Amino acid sequence: MVMDCDAVIVGTGPAGATVAEVLTTAGWSVVMLEKGRNHLLSLDAPFEPLGEVSNDELKLLFRHFLGPDPWLEPRTFRHDETEGDRIHVGDVNNLPSTIGGGGIHADGKLPRFREIDFRIASELAPVDGAELVDWPLDYDELEPYYAEAERVVGVAGDADANPFAAWRSGPYPMPPGPDMFCAALTSDAATQLGYHPYRAPTGVNSVEYDGRPACNNCGFCGYFGCPIDAKGDPVAPLRHALRTGRCDIRPESYATEVLLDSSGRKARGVRYLDADGNAHEVSARHVVLGAGAFETPRLLQRSGVGNADVVGRFLMYHFQTFAMGIFPFRLHAHRGRSVTHLMDDPILPDPAADTAAREAGLPWMRGGIVEHGGASHPITEAIHLSPGEDHTRLMLGSPMRDRMAVFTMQGEDLPQATNRVDLDPHVTDAWGLPAGRVTYSPHRHEIECARHWAPRLEAVMREAGATHTFWATSPALPEHAARRRITNPSPISRHVMGTARMGNDARTSVCDRWQRLHDVDNVLVADSSVFPTGAGYGPTLTIVALAIRAARALADLEPLRSQRQARVP
Ligand SMILES: Cc1cc2nc3c(=O)[nH]c(=O)nc-3n(C[C@H](O)[C@H](O)[C@H](O)COP(=O)(O)OP(=O)(O)OC[C@H]3O[C@@H](n4cnc5c(N)ncnc54)[C@H](O)[C@@H]3O)c2cc1C
Ligand code: SF4
Repeated sequence: MVMDCDAVIVGTGPAGATVAEVLTTAGWSVVMLEKGRNHLLSLDAPFEPLGEVSNDELKLLFRHFLGPDPWLEPRTFRHDETEGDRIHVGDVNNLPSTIGGGGIHADGKLPRFREIDFRIASELAPVDGAELVDWPLDYDELEPYYAEAERVVGVAGDADANPFAAWRSGPYPMPPGPDMFCAALTSDAATQLGYHPYRAPTGVNSVEYDGRPACNNCGFCGYFGCPIDAKGDPVAPLRHALRTGRCDIRPESYATEVLLDSSGRKARGVRYLDADGNAHEVSARHVVLGAGAFETPRLLQRSGVGNADVVGRFLMYHFQTFAMGIFPFRLHAHRGRSVTHLMDDPILPDPAADTAAREAGLPWMRGGIVEHGGASHPITEAIHLSPGEDHTRLMLGSPMRDRMAVFTMQGEDLPQATNRVDLDPHVTDAWGLPAGRVTYSPHRHEIECARHWAPRLEAVMREAGATHTFWATSPALPEHAARRRITNPSPISRHVMGTARMGNDARTSVCDRWQRLHDVDNVLVADSSVFPTGAGYGPTLTIVALAIRAARALADLEPLRSQRQARVP
């Protein structure tokens, strides 16, 4: 039978774009379906940027320019089943729905995971209520793909800066960009107190790279697209794929179903709706899902494909702890990239954290990277400052935008089977498809970890010169939630993982170690749905590294060899 293409890829974010580049370079023909609009690249040669994103807070943050509009594509949320079908309808962890996906919004801190993150179940004691598992591959096997991911995305960093980093086979492709004043200040204070901050590896050009210019540190990075193409967003892989002449990108094409053949064990393509709501089918030898860890399980569930006992379960975010410091002088934290420094200390065992864990009845405690950042933007500040006579005076003083530093700890979220994405029984989107529903409550580990680390991070702020400090978490701790009215109870983290976990046992996982569905092996899941555990690091570099590995295996390309002996189970 003649197929429309070798592979149909759902989603054009970092996962889908990476697979498209690998497959088209290997000579495959690819059709990419993306439900959002195209604001990134002209789809005609020479595939120039469209210049449609800009440093416009209203357009990007309030008017859903990059989508999705939660009124048209609502999601629903509840903490657990006792709350009924849902307690919230609207935005639940929305990442942009557009060509480039969340890669456009992300400000691109791109650290690697550490060795232990791939074998947490064998290295650490079990934790009641969490289903910890090892990954079906280890760091040594993934290392050459991490190096390739850093090359493809374009990562700027200093290989010797982080004393706790995993081994690496070479330097970063670019040196680090300039430090933000605010982050340099808090980093010095952290060093004084014995922590180990370092210049963050970022997917932002510090010099001209891959035909794209160096970043001009405009300050509108996180939540904005890059107007000059300096970010390591999916523009580069998509442009490379388009240039092969074998990539057909279809924006405003909403994949509604993975289609199986009569055997039920082989996919034959994908059905989708175009911008006018007309249904089409793309037939393909292989189906690749890169719709993100929220939409991929939703699509699998709609299609009745994948291990139904596990698809959607083990949803993980990062449990975010924010420590804020208000300074008596201006920090200019709105200048530069959003974050230029990180520190890993809360991820590592330390006597105080061990004691706190014991006292809380936990065998251990692992937080996450701490991002040294700050700054909101003027309209966000205007909305959050108290209205009334003092508003103008406060805006001039700018306590939030210009005098506030923020630490964000991306705490590791332990996998629990009860945390899941499924189909809401009643709420539908504008196309009549069941909305995705999240059921999620953090594990006690995350909560205790936040309580332990937040005061320590506040102490760093005071050491740096902050006169007022406070902290909060997302999701809110019970003691904080009781004090304020929460309009959206879902976690604000945009690091979504785990909903089609990979593993060697087909009964307890959805995908195998090559990210193919156990029961339909010509369907490959390319995004962070496959993560068995979430670690305390941003997921995107690991998504890209895994996607390169899985796509190369799919196309029968020679594996990239580790410089150490990999332990293949
Ligand atoms: C402000 C912000 C800052 C961030 N910063 C960082 C960071 O510093 N470091 C880090 O590691 N991560 C960061 N992230 C997270 C990062 O953006 C995600 O990890 C990454 O985008 C996930 O890539 P993905 O390809 O798996 O999914 P996505 O980027 O979500 O892409 C999925 C794409 O699939 C499309 N799609 C979904 N369903 C369908 C369907 N049915 N049919 C057709 N198309 C569909 C979506 O529209 C979307 O375009 C940040 C995110 C945000 C919002
Ligand atoms: S800070 Fe740099 S990478 Fe980020 S949007 Fe501005 S120019 Fe682009």
